[in-house]
Amino acid sequence: MTDTASEVLLVARNLTKRFGGLAAVNDVSLDLWRGRIHAVIGPNGAGKSTLTNLLSGDIAPTSGQVTLGGHDITGIKPDAISRKGLGRSYQKTNIFAPFTVWDNVQLAAQSRAPHALRWLHRADSFAPTRERAGRAIELAGLTARRDAIAGTISHGEQRQLEIAMTLATQPQVLLLDEPLAGMGVAEAERMVALLLRLKQEHAMMLVEHDMDAVFALADHLTVMVNGQVIASGAPAAVRADAGVQSAYLGEEEAHHG
Ligand code: ADP
Ligand code: MG
Repeated sequence: MTDTASEVLLVARNLTKRFGGLAAVNDVSLDLWRGRIHAVIGPNGAGKSTLTNLLSGDIAPTSGQVTLGGHDITGIKPDAISRKGLGRSYQKTNIFAPFTVWDNVQLAAQSRAPHALRWLHRADSFAPTRERAGRAIELAGLTARRDAIAGTISHGEQRQLEIAMTLATQPQVLLLDEPLAGMGVAEAERMVALLLRLKQEHAMMLVEHDMDAVFALADHLTVMVNGQVIASGAPAAVRADAGVQSAYLGEEEAHHG
């Protein structure tokens, strides 16, 4: 296939995860395509983070299958899945606050250096690592902040930093769990612009509560409630769905007055 924009990179089929008697994720299937953003929305407890964890390998499914680039990755370790081209960010900020922006991204990039080199070289003495880190920082829009201490930059910049750290591992597939959480309007707009830039080269799953951002970004929209997909398709069609309105979107709009 010459059109890389229509390449399916990740396929999940009939994923179920039970925690005791609770099916946190119940028979969920989805495809992630390069050049497309697949947004997943739903109320708290719907199973969105659990679904992300199933795709990244952070937890193993009770049943179902995940393939990445045509290879079965079901049940393999997160580090191995990451090396095959899957990058993720977490719902809670996950940075080394006392280190600089540069050092955070460099450490993430270094996790991709061959093992021997990892121990023999200081992180910044290994050129390909340095290049990857520099590119990731630039792509995430943090070049001007590279020498700042991570703990002192704004919340929005910290979320950009997490994305830079993910990009430093050179993923093909990005799983982003609420990247806009806690952001002000200007920060959210900057993050939306960043995600649109990243969409060109990546397949992306975006878990997000900010509906303005979701409808600005999503090429495909899936709604989860109680572990199950209640609607999935083109965002405008999903938005118009009466069941979705009553189960989720109507309720959100009511909350926002
Ligand atoms: P969301 O991200 O959509 O808010 P989660 O995936 O975090 O939802 O949670 C889905 C359901 O699974 C919730 O009822 C939650 O309490 C439960 N759950 C999540 N993780 C665990 C766990 N490790 N052990 C037991 N129950 C869990
Ligand atoms: Mg969550």
